[in-house]
Amino acid sequence: MTGMGLRYVGKCLTCAEHSVDTADPDDGQVWCLRHAGATGHTSYEMSAFQYFDAMMTAPRP
Ligand SMILES: [Zn+2]
Repeated sequence: MTGMGLRYVGKCLTCAEHSVDTADPDDGQVWCLRHAGATGHTSYEMSAFQYFDAMMTAPRP
């Protein structure tokens, strides 16, 4: 792997705080549960996304 896997972020929909992105969706969910315990906020969104490198395909002159 070259760090190109899916990344997950848990986000609170009440106050818009969010976890750092992680390779493990369970880590994002744990962040939500901790945040819920600390704040009482109950609405969360889990997002998955992927980093990638843009490569130039045309040869340089
Ligand atoms: Zn919150």
